[in-house]
Amino acid sequence: VCPVGALMEKDQTAEVLAALADPEKVVVVQTAPAVRAALGEPFGMEPGTLVTGKMVSALRELGFDHVFDTNFTADLTIMEEGSELLDRLNRHLAGDESVKLPILTSCCPAWVKFFEHQFPDLLHLPSTAKSPQQMFGAVAKSFFAETIGIPREKMVVVSIMPCLAKKFEAARPEFAVGGNPDVDYVLSTRELARMIRGANIDFATLADGEFDQPLGESTGAAVIFGATGGVLEAAVRTACEVATGRELPRIDFQELRGVEGVRSATVKVGEVELKVGVVHKLGNARTLMERIRAGEEEFHAIEVMSCPGGCIGGGGQPYHQGREELLEMRTAALYRDDCGKPLRKSHENPHIQELYRTFLGEPLGEKAHELLHTHYQARPGL
Ligand code: SF4
Repeated sequence: VCPVGALMEKDQTAEVLAALADPEKVVVVQTAPAVRAALGEPFGMEPGTLVTGKMVSALRELGFDHVFDTNFTADLTIMEEGSELLDRLNRHLAGDESVKLPILTSCCPAWVKFFEHQFPDLLHLPSTAKSPQQMFGAVAKSFFAETIGIPREKMVVVSIMPCLAKKFEAARPEFAVGGNPDVDYVLSTRELARMIRGANIDFATLADGEFDQPLGESTGAAVIFGATGGVLEAAVRTACEVATGRELPRIDFQELRGVEGVRSATVKVGEVELKVGVVHKLGNARTLMERIRAGEEEFHAIEVMSCPGGCIGGGGQPYHQGREELLEMRTAALYRDDCGKPLRKSHENPHIQELYRTFLGEPLGEKAHELLHTHYQARPGL
């Protein structure tokens, strides 16, 4: 998208306002991890000010019926993606040659589209787990719609994302049931700020609100999804404990954090030395993938995010004009948020545990596959 805003992205604010005004609709909103670290900026706050509570209050004032958190399904993504990682790793170590590694993260839709075009011969590598946005839509329009006793067609799911590619992702036909999309509309952080201003809400003076439950509960592992390296760190926290059955001696994996475009580290998961890579920006991803394709690099797992710094530097965030210190301030806010949470590992989220017990069954089980996993397609040419 145009870095100075001369060209504007597809804006669905009018459709969202129409849904909010429709008494027949139940309008549910989810907010991505990175939004809370940047939404204060258009209202004059310092970059890196966490405005989670004010964001929730603003969404309530705008008229959303249920204010939920994409962080909930970031925890759910880790349950599925972490289980997939362990499953592939164990089968690989047992000599199953049909299993291919490295597993690649798949929660960044710009990266997904990029590898569908550029690496169609490697479509067996990405995790089949849907992104947190799409898991949220699928769970909201099945589990939550059933819980409140409405058909999925009566529910409208709106996402607030730091991302413009999420608008494309929500419109992919595989993320719909009978033509009814799991996520109806996606607004960027900038569009939400404009909507709040348009409603004459004095954002800076709002009291802190709380997310609704059960889709508003999350752990520290979920919020770091917004920074490069965060998805892998969250996956490692859970994979280590699930693999060993023992509590982790440390929660922070500093070796996965940082701003270099390509980072690698070795992390012990049980008896296995897991070689992991973290990449941000697609040029770096292309270089690394070409080396993997040529057999020059070997990894067990790689996280790829398209935007500089990960989603905190996403195309839907307040313009950062390439100021790296601003991205660092947003990143620091997410790690502060993680540190302050009573629970910091996705598998400890009590509402996630309950969701598996009462609705989904087991990670990677039949229902989980039906609702939470997807497939990829080769898209030759650009
Ligand atoms: Fe979207 Fe960028 Fe985050 Fe990818 S890294 S999900 S393109 S904001």
